[in-house]
Amino acid sequence: MNRTTIDWPNLKYTWNPITGCKNNCDYCYARRIHERFYKTSFRDIICHENRLNDPSKVNNSTIFVGSMSDIWFWNHEDKKKVIEICEYYFGNTYMFLSKNPGSYIGIAWPKNTMQGVTETLKSSIALVHYRDIIPRPYFSVEPIMGSLLKKGINNRLSKFTALDNPR
Ligand code: SF4
Repeated sequence: MNRTTIDWPNLKYTWNPITGCKNNCDYCYARRIHERFYKTSFRDIICHENRLNDPSKVNNSTIFVGSMSDIWFWNHEDKKKVIEICEYYFGNTYMFLSKNPGSYIGIAWPKNTMQGVTETLKSSIALVHYRDIIPRPYFSVEPIMGSLLKKGINNRLSKFTALDNPR
């Protein structure tokens, strides 16, 4: 787990118990970091068992889970392990982020978790559709590629409250 410079409200740490992603975004900084420090392919989804217990080291902190991945590609067992840890170390708040809001369906999310979606035309339309099913959704528009107005993002964003700590 690392201190982060990402300037989301209250965010202090990134935690990467699982790395790897198959989305292949052109602008992906995680892939560049991965290629520098890991020998495996970034498309391999790897659960790092030795990192699972990292949230035990902090309390009362907001943690971004999976800055080097997308939960969309995690298998059921790995998702379960990570979410159980979030629930166990309940003093922290855990922010997940995906390009596919469908990743969050069918999971009993503990109250100290938030389920974010990165804006792509498809994902934000899907998030509006799922917003009553996902318990604590948030919306991330990054990187901003082109006019928000033109993409109709403002209109979809207006359906959400500002990002804040859920508890
Ligand atoms: S979803 Fe995120 S981690 Fe995956 S390729 Fe895109 S930018 Fe990288």
